[in-house]
Amino acid sequence: MDYYKTSLHIHTKEDPRDSHIIRYSYKDLIKTLAEKGFSIISITNHDSIFYNKNLARTAEENNILLIPGIEMTIEGVHILGYNLDREDVFDKKGNYKIKKLEDIEKIKREDNLIIPAHVFYGFHSINNKLFEHCHLFDALEFSFFYTDNILSKIPNKKAIRAAERYNMPLIGTSDVHDKRILNETYTKIKCNLDNHPLNSKKNIKSVIRAIKNAKNKDIGINSRDLKKPIEIITNPLSNMFYFRKFTVASLSGFLGFFKH
Ligand SMILES: [Zn+2]
Ligand SMILES: [Zn+2]
Repeated sequence: MDYYKTSLHIHTKEDPRDSHIIRYSYKDLIKTLAEKGFSIISITNHDSIFYNKNLARTAEENNILLIPGIEMTIEGVHILGYNLDREDVFDKKGNYKIKKLEDIEKIKREDNLIIPAHVFYGFHSINNKLFEHCHLFDALEFSFFYTDNILSKIPNKKAIRAAERYNMPLIGTSDVHDKRILNETYTKIKCNLDNHPLNSKKNIKSVIRAIKNAKNKDIGINSRDLKKPIEIITNPLSNMFYFRKFTVASLSGFLGFFKH
């Protein structure tokens, strides 16, 4: 089994909510991810599954396995879904079929993954509702969004503690909206992939199984020996980047609050 460098929370220009803040095309992004050595990625645009054969071919040409993904908004909470069918998530008019967090139970399958995004980060996060709903999820997200400052590390510390308490795996992501930080937090996953073709259902299932079957003890965070089946590699953001992003996120959360 090999380790594959993985990035499972990425937004692109096609994102219906965030396209105005994204400067790269998906082709440009896939090329950069390949240059940085990523082998497995998922584009998780808001409220839409951005995946088709052309896209998978672009990934394949760059030696990358692309897993269909989405960042859903359920009860105002961002939930990452992988390898879901559009029909599972949306009705014919494009409205969410899943209206409540409990409804996630209906779409859970052996070959898909459901993970709450940025778990304890306030706006659009599941926060303490996790404790009544954790049976719905396959893993928790370890976020890139922290600095060397101790206060900024609190949300991830809470996620680590919750993952220990419920014996769940964690995955590290950079919730990529900006190419400069895509290498700051990511996950290395041990699994078996066939190379020809790389973008096959079998390979997607293999990655999903590796995450789904992992227990909390199987997760390493910046371990020196890289012996765990899932290793999160993570570096703190610079204060400048963090505060700029924090201001934008707070402002859009604040404005979003008045929109609903
Ligand atoms: Zn989100
Ligand atoms: Zn996101």
